[in-house]
Amino acid sequence: MLGLYVHIPFCRHKCLYCDFPSYSGLERYLEGYVPALCRDIAASPYAGQKADTIYIGGGTPSILSAKDVGDILLQLRQTFEVTADAEITIEANPESLDGEKAAAYVSYGINRLSLGIQSFSDRMLSFLGRIHTAKEGERALRAAWDAGIHNLSLDLMYGLPGQTVSDVMEDVQRLGDLPVDHASIYSLIVEDGTPLKHGLSKGLWTLPEDEAVEAMGQAIHDQMHGLGFHHYEISSYAKGPFESKHNSKYWTYEPYIGFGVSAHSFDGTARWANMANIPRYIQKAGRDSVEGERVLIDDKRAVEDYCFLALRRRVGIDKGDYARRFGRPIEADFGSVIDGLAAQGLLEATKERVRLSDKGLSYGNYVFGKFIR
Ligand code: SF4
Repeated sequence: MLGLYVHIPFCRHKCLYCDFPSYSGLERYLEGYVPALCRDIAASPYAGQKADTIYIGGGTPSILSAKDVGDILLQLRQTFEVTADAEITIEANPESLDGEKAAAYVSYGINRLSLGIQSFSDRMLSFLGRIHTAKEGERALRAAWDAGIHNLSLDLMYGLPGQTVSDVMEDVQRLGDLPVDHASIYSLIVEDGTPLKHGLSKGLWTLPEDEAVEAMGQAIHDQMHGLGFHHYEISSYAKGPFESKHNSKYWTYEPYIGFGVSAHSFDGTARWANMANIPRYIQKAGRDSVEGERVLIDDKRAVEDYCFLALRRRVGIDKGDYARRFGRPIEADFGSVIDGLAAQGLLEATKERVRLSDKGLSYGNYVFGKFIR
């Protein structure tokens, strides 16, 4: 079944580390963007298909008025057969979410909210260029809960300049006091072209050593387990059944269709991204193609993508599923790679599965790279 993604590329302020397709100071396009999105959705060649997840991401979707969000969801339901039990997620940032908006989300059928908190340290939040305090983050989360959204996720970051293991543990402790059942906890990635990269290259800040970042990751893993979360994907923790169904589609090679600028899609045979230019998108959506070039996924690319994505999950690669999809055992393609990584202690291979070991969790990119031929 399809997953549907909607991209909202607007933010009130651009964070120091962010290279996502999101822009501040372009709110003048908001008025035209939502009708364009609705035209884009209505014109989808996949119209009429069943969808069991919707994810409104960004950027900052909560920057939209509640009515705009309602219009987008209405259009999705009119165009697709959205199942009655679909997981419907919206991303929000604390400065643009209050109880009234959260209650409107509930009335539109939104049943999951992912809040970009990133840190419970006001010093770190200010360094990162976030425009909310830790208290405002907690307030927004509780407002969503009180409004009736009881599948709540929050984002945290670690490996930040000046951060210590005990800072990170303090963050996880604060998370544990909140009504969240899912958390995405990311190690900072320094992306080209960001002010963070520029400042680091000028010596304005220093990143923690690799060993310290590894120790933070391990401390988070242990503490989250202590709080009753299981570590189901390299950066994702959930309690009980609260794993993200939408994100799991990305990791299990399921199809998803994206709407809005820069939104990515995968229909099982090809991948593509929409154009990034907001005014051009507004002009063309629903009238002309807004897609970039489609990249057909040949067999070589398919097995690489499949392994790379499946290994992000702690359950790893299901060897039976691999053989059914590709008509041969995984060992025929990656036998020596798996043996080599297992010998290094980074992978665990059983008769049924291949998965990252606990040690391999800290070397994910190295392991994934070995599956790209
Ligand atoms: S709020 Fe999120 S998307 Fe927007 S600039 Fe910050 S990190 Fe990027």
